[in-house]
Formats: sequence, structure tokens, C-alpha cells
Amino acid sequence: MKIKNLFGQKKVTISCEIFPPKKDTAFSGIFETVDAIQSLGVDFISVTYGAGGSTSKKTVEVASYIQERHHLPALAHLTCCDSTKEDIRQRLAEMKERGIENILALRGDKPKEYVPGPYTYAIDLIRDIKSQGDFCIGGACYPDGHVECEHKEDDIAFLKEKVEAGCDFLTTQMFFDNNVYYNFLYRVLAVGIQVPVIPGIMPVINARQVKRSAELSGTSLPPRFKAIADKFSDDPLAMEQAGIAYATEQIIDLVANGVKYIHLYTMNRPQTAAKIMENLSHILR
Ligand code: FAD
Repeated sequence: MKIKNLFGQKKVTISCEIFPPKKDTAFSGIFETVDAIQSLGVDFISVTYGAGGSTSKKTVEVASYIQERHHLPALAHLTCCDSTKEDIRQRLAEMKERGIENILALRGDKPKEYVPGPYTYAIDLIRDIKSQGDFCIGGACYPDGHVECEHKEDDIAFLKEKVEAGCDFLTTQMFFDNNVYYNFLYRVLAVGIQVPVIPGIMPVINARQVKRSAELSGTSLPPRFKAIADKFSDDPLAMEQAGIAYATEQIIDLVANGVKYIHLYTMNRPQTAAKIMENLSHILR
């Protein structure tokens, strides 16, 4: 099923993100993760794509498992900045063959030794996906602005072009202050972007890791978040509890303000997703 057709079917559409393990030996564990996440009643699961092709085949394999075993839509991520046209053609053919209809089309982070190829931006990939099949296409967006873009207005203008090239929905980078998301929604609506903008919520379990990746990605961290991270980051159980409470509060505020889709960056931790879903059981019903 195409993800764009899921929106509006339920009060709130919930999705979770997982990543395929890098090592083949850890591969069987990912299926248990999928089983546990689907048992929470989520509406679709997205599967990340390793840059440089590190887990690229596995993305399709895990996405197929989600669909074939659980009859749940899978969203297969696909990056392009270090791919050839032939790589992408093959990957799309593979997805078609496995019945994968939903793709999150991404540029990917440029590798250290980046050699410019046929794909400079995600928009180039979106155009190719459009021309090679009837896929439902998602794109990434950045409420705090993408780290490489100096001016937020330019970022939004490029986002508009990307959506017009064929995005059916957008998923945001993690954010920890809902006002940043609401502000972003005003700005995208102002330029006429009408597709759903799914907020990406990261339950913080490892505060140091998240602080580092927030710094790298330019995600702002509100004082309330910093206070929690500073107080609990040395106590993993307390940090997990606080991270789950923080994510739960963010989601309650989003739903109370009319947001109809939530994406959880569950990072292969079904137990975290389960606690959040339990906290929201009446709210999502
Ligand atoms: P683009 O949309 O191409 O944008 C990249 C930059 O280029 C932005 O600064 C934009 O403003 C600028 N830009 C766009 N068009 C133009 C133009 N015409 N001229 C000049 N500048 C332009 N990475 C992975 O490797 N694997 C994953 O599975 C993965 N999943 C992700 C899921 C989500 C929801 C998000 C938000 C990110 C994900 N990423 C993933 C990270 C992503 O690949 C990086 O953030 C990457 O740096 C940008 O990808 P993009 O598709 O947003 O790029």
C-alpha cells in the first residue's frame, strides 16, 4: 500500500524507523526487531539506507520482510550522492520486483572523498524514481535548516522544488522544541508546500550521542532538553526514562495541536517504542 493513502485513515498515523545491521552476523536480530515493532500497531516502518552501499541490499531485504511477513507498508530509504545511474536503476528494479512501493529519496551525506557523480541533490533522484515506476516518494526536511545551507529561505525554496519534482510527503529531521516544527510548518505553507510534513521524534536514550549528532546536523537543543541531558546522561536507566517522557510530551503536544502523523526514530529499540505507545494508548485511540 502506498503510504500517501494511509494518511487520514486514522486519528494519528504512527511510523517507526529501523536500520539494518552492518554485520551479516547480526542480521537475524533485525527481524525480531521488526516483529516487535509491528506488534505495537504502527502504520508503517521505514528502513534506513547505509551510505556508500554499506547496507543497501539489506534495506530492500528488511523492507520486503516487513511487507511479506506482516503485510505492513515499508518505506525503503535510498540515497544517491555516491551512486551511478546504473546503481539506482538496479535498486529500483529490485524494489519493484519485491513489491516495495514507498521510497524515502535522499541525497545522503557526502563521503569524505566525495567525487561528484550524476546525482548532486535528492531532487535528481526523485526525478529518476518518477521516471522509472509508480512509487510513492517521500523526502527529508530540516525544521532547523539543513546544515549545509546558509539561509533557511534558500533551504525552503530548494525544498519546494524537491516537492514539486514529486514528493508525496516529507519527514523531518529530529527536533526537540515543537515550536521549531510549528514555525517550519508556517514557512513551508507560506511557499505553497501542501504535502504532509511528518514530525520525526527521537526518544533520547544516549544523550551524549544525540548531543553530538545534533551539533553536527545543526539541530537546536532547548535549555529544558540540555538540563535533562546534563542531569541524567551518566545514569542510563534514568536517561531512558527521561528520554521517553520527553518524547511522549512532545507527541502529546503535537497531537493536541492537530498533527496527524508521528515518526519515531526508534533506533532498533522496540522496548522504547513500546513504552511511548503505552503512554499514548488513550491519546492515539
Ligand atoms: P537534499 O534535499 O539534496 O538537500 C541537501 C542540501 O542541498 C540542503 O542544504 C539543500 O538546501 C541543498 N540544495 C538542494 N537543492 C539545491 C540546489 N538546487 N542548489 C543548491 N543547493 C541545493 N542518510 C543516509 O545516509 N541514509 C538514510 O537512510 C537517511 N535517512 C534520513 C531520513 C530522514 C527523515 C532525514 C531527515 C535524513 C536522513 N538521512 C539519511 C540524512 C540525509 O541523507 C542527509 O541529511 C543529507 O545531508 C541530505 O539529504 P537530503 O535528501 O535532505 O538532500
